[in-house]
Amino acid sequence: MNTLQGSCAFVTGAGKGIGRAITLALLKEGVNVTGISRTRTDLESLSKESGSLSGEFKAIPGDISNEHVIKESIEEAVNYFSRLDHLINNAGIGIMKPVQEMSVEEWDLTMNINTRGAFLATRFALPYMIRNNSGTIINIASIAGKRAFAGGAAYCASKFAMMGFSEALMFDVRKYNIRVITISPGTVATQFHTGEALKKDKDRVLTPEDCAETVVYALKLPQSAAAHEIELRITNP
Ligand code: NAP
Repeated sequence: MNTLQGSCAFVTGAGKGIGRAITLALLKEGVNVTGISRTRTDLESLSKESGSLSGEFKAIPGDISNEHVIKESIEEAVNYFSRLDHLINNAGIGIMKPVQEMSVEEWDLTMNINTRGAFLATRFALPYMIRNNSGTIINIASIAGKRAFAGGAAYCASKFAMMGFSEALMFDVRKYNIRVITISPGTVATQFHTGEALKKDKDRVLTPEDCAETVVYALKLPQSAAAHEIELRITNP
């Protein structure tokens, strides 16, 4: 398996939940990680926790749905660490409402973060990967990107879109030795779930660390082989 030591990653939505666990797991592997999310205090606590780990952490507070912010953040990361090997498109939100109750603003917000944000980060990361003739892009999609449910119109649409985006992207960039890997988890115990949704199932769902270990595993596969789609489910629900 590949060693990740000394490689450089850019993780969106690094402050909480799955993104935070991915960031910590990569830092333990000796990866230098740039993490972006909007809440500064989350990034500050991550910076503190990263101090004892093998890789170096660089925090950039910002909104990935803003074209200029994401472009400048990726430039800043590459200027700082000199290269970009892995992009983890993880940031996402879920506004669960039936279509007839969803506002246009809620629809646009979901698409702007979950779909447009992943496109923007990918668009601005790719020139650096193409220049190196290598790289890996991991998109954190969801089982909701394959099977829809009541109240999930905006969220499912954004994740179905991510599946299509990932497959087309794979065909665009494989000639540059760039791997595109989609990880589709089932329910994960994070703050993504509000209210009662998770309370009764807490021990019967995936953990952020399960997702993070899967990311590390996928990155460690030989560069010549991409596990293009990984569906991650709890073994015994
Ligand atoms: P979470 O705990 O709510 O964390 C989401 C992270 O994304 C936060 O750090 C948040 O930070 C960041 N983020 C949101 N909007 C952003 C923006 N515009 N710009 C920058 N950062 C932003 O959620 P999670 O459960 O870890 O979810 C992570 C990903 O996994 C999402 O794409 C989600 O769809 C997917 N997923 C989750 C589950 C699940 O059951 N939890 C299952 C399958 C897939 P700020 O709000 O501070 O910006």
